[in-house]
Amino acid sequence: MGRNTVDIKNLTIKSTHESLIGGDFSAQELAEAYLKVIEEKNPEINAYLEVFDDVSAQAVRADERIKNGEKNPLVGIPIAIKDNMLIKGKVASSASKILEHYKAVYDATVITKLKEAGAVFLGRTNMDEFAMGSSTENSAYGVTRNPHDPSRIPGGSSGGSAAAVAMDGALASLGSDTGGSIRQPASLCGIVGLKPTYGAVSRHGLMAMASSLDQIGPMTKTVGDAEILFHAIRGADEMDSTSAPDDVHAFGADEKGRALVIGVPTAFLEADGLDEGVRENFNASMDKLRERGYEIREIALPNIAYSLAAYYIIMPAEASTNLARYDGVRYGLYKEGKDLIGDYASTRGEGFGREVRRRILLGAYVLSSGYYDAYYNKANAVRKLIRRDFEAAFDPSGGGVHIIATPTSPTPAFTIGERKDDPLQMYLADIFTVPANIAGIPALSVPSGLSGDGAAGLPLGVQFMAPHFREDVLFKVGKDFEQSLTA
Ligand code: GLN
Repeated sequence: MGRNTVDIKNLTIKSTHESLIGGDFSAQELAEAYLKVIEEKNPEINAYLEVFDDVSAQAVRADERIKNGEKNPLVGIPIAIKDNMLIKGKVASSASKILEHYKAVYDATVITKLKEAGAVFLGRTNMDEFAMGSSTENSAYGVTRNPHDPSRIPGGSSGGSAAAVAMDGALASLGSDTGGSIRQPASLCGIVGLKPTYGAVSRHGLMAMASSLDQIGPMTKTVGDAEILFHAIRGADEMDSTSAPDDVHAFGADEKGRALVIGVPTAFLEADGLDEGVRENFNASMDKLRERGYEIREIALPNIAYSLAAYYIIMPAEASTNLARYDGVRYGLYKEGKDLIGDYASTRGEGFGREVRRRILLGAYVLSSGYYDAYYNKANAVRKLIRRDFEAAFDPSGGGVHIIATPTSPTPAFTIGERKDDPLQMYLADIFTVPANIAGIPALSVPSGLSGDGAAGLPLGVQFMAPHFREDVLFKVGKDFEQSLTA
């Protein structure tokens, strides 16, 4: 079989697994087919910062395992990894100059799990520097372009991971999500993205941005693929004290056979800035689910409107402390100054980009004495109120809903440069995704068709949120929704 025999356009993890086991093509041929697409498309799209030089060797090992009867659904599956997760011996830069030559000295837990499963790592993907941004324009290594329209951004911060899958340069990828960085780019690139429940997936070996919000999750072409990848990477980990015990998952079906109720926070959707085409697409999506037997109910989440304000206090506060370690002594870049403080100033001044410096300054400010109570403690109090809103909305004893739905992003992909110099406009891209991180609940973005006039033909997505550790409900509604679109 030659390089062109694998038709990668229509592959899913599930179908690929069957083909590999059935001998339709080998893991090597599959990897070759992906490398060819990357070679063709990456110069324009810039989804990958690096394609690994050992892809073939990994595929050879996968083929051996398949020959020996290995049945893991991920054996031989080509996956792309966001540049903020450690793969031993590979550069991991978080798309920052400060870590340009930093090589990981151990594997992140998610990488260990995927290696054990036999996945093939194609390369590391572009992102906003240290995962700060919504467009991948904050990378120190150039913007990633949206494969659906290269004049537009792919979303961010996991824009490279989204574009890699959307351009058929990987079958699936991993992203990280602190305020929307998996779901928003997935939505803008027309793929599926899952932010798991806080604690469901170990963050050991993920470069920390805001530790009380960060999660790693899958980015895939279908909901079924996201489910496979999620189960491969989740689980308790003694290296991450915030990872949840394995028995906490409430998978199972108290809802079996019953019509599920989807709550829509209508007042929140009235917010300024929601694109008319997005609103129409969202309403049509809810109609489709209604036709499939779901009950759609209006709900109130009274404090959710404060999510973005609370996020932009909590996130920079945590990021400023997490990024203190990049001091020119322990990791990466070192630039000499006239004394020790001068060393810090020149290393961090030259090593970090503008947005990262902005957030470090904001974070140091809200944590400084005198402002700590006024900003940081206040934001945490608001966070509690938002969590309670979700608990009340989902409360089964109060006749609560099973799922909450919103659009994933208030607009389709914007053009490169459009919001780059307007941080507030950029931050608004996260308005619907940030609440799930604040509350720690799982959230899934599923493609919902293409936008109509204006920005014709750009992908849109619907976001579903569920109670803690109920990813199973998200997969169910996500699959039903996918089917309703093709029906
Ligand atoms: N766009 C958001 C931010 O810039 C979210 C980032 C993320 O989830 N990593 O903070």
